[in-house]
Amino acid sequence: MNRDQVYNFAPGPSTMPESALKTAAAEMLNFRGSGMSVMEISHRSALFQEVFDSACLKLRRLMNVPDTHEILLLQGGATTQFAAIPMNLLEGGTADYAVTGNFSNKAAEEAGKYGTVHIAATTKPTGHDRIPTQAELDLSPDAKYFYYCANNTIYGTEWQYVPETASTLACDMSSDILSREVDVSKFGLIYAGAQKNMAPAGLTVVIVDKRLAGRELPITPKILSYRTMIETGSMLNTPPCWCIYMLDLTLDWVIKEGGVKAMDERKRERAGMLYDFLDNSKVLHPHALPGSRSFMNVTFRTDSPELDAAFVKGAAERGLLNLKGHKIAGGMRASVYNAMPVEGAKALVEYMKEFEVRNA
Ligand SMILES: *Cc1c(COP(=O)(O)O)cnc(C)c1O
Repeated sequence: MNRDQVYNFAPGPSTMPESALKTAAAEMLNFRGSGMSVMEISHRSALFQEVFDSACLKLRRLMNVPDTHEILLLQGGATTQFAAIPMNLLEGGTADYAVTGNFSNKAAEEAGKYGTVHIAATTKPTGHDRIPTQAELDLSPDAKYFYYCANNTIYGTEWQYVPETASTLACDMSSDILSREVDVSKFGLIYAGAQKNMAPAGLTVVIVDKRLAGRELPITPKILSYRTMIETGSMLNTPPCWCIYMLDLTLDWVIKEGGVKAMDERKRERAGMLYDFLDNSKVLHPHALPGSRSFMNVTFRTDSPELDAAFVKGAAERGLLNLKGHKIAGGMRASVYNAMPVEGAKALVEYMKEFEVRNA
């Protein structure tokens, strides 16, 4: 298949803006007249530092990151932050965790190695089909921080509010960063694996309040210490140079398209048409409850695993790719991140309509 015959609904790594890929292709062999690829230049060179600073500045402007907060561009994926957060912020004390899906559950398990984890809420009993309300959050008085995952990539639920807590907010925004306006000043720490909405896999963006740095446990590896990474400008060691370059190009695209506000409008259009169809379908059923639904990952299923498989197969034959749900959730999942054109969601709804007629 050709690229123009395909919409890629993969959950991550996922579809990227075509303009970013084209620029990267054009600059692949000779980056800005250096005679070298961006992959071949030193991370300590002025040329690469320009790329690094450019990506950070664009992100700072797009997200309105205040001067109190540092932007770190790190390796290790989102999963590394499951450990880095308690190692840096827990100080052997207690933290509140909201468990609303697989990744927050893993983060809570990891944090338990370094202190006391208090489960402030869990949506496990109903198969993670919703987000707890503020009133349902059972907050501990002495918590060092409150941890939550803004968008549950696997189950397709998303927090539509920022929790009110007395303690520091720490949030996994891996799968919805840059899709909504966020008041960064409310957060002690925001992090995101880049491979959903920002860049290829291998880069993790961490936005951390500098006032929280320096509290790490003595056993914290240097590579995981926020203080060290702030002091070294994310370059204690070689950063993921290629991914940072791709982040810079993706942010160019976000800016050109109208910034985070435009991303927010477009996501509502894409997800809106999918949920509209699902709410009226007799064959395809949405997983997440209204009010808790993700704008980035739309999860649904038929009444049987066989029919689910037929849906995924028929979609792939039409170039609608990677719609199979995560193995722990089953069913289907359409990941419609920032770079997914509205036409992709339209094409999927068209297919859903035909599927419904054939299987009603
Ligand atoms: C994908 C994802 C992760 C895991 O990311 P890795 O970079 O593979 O560690 C964690 N949290 C969320 C919300 C995700 O979507």
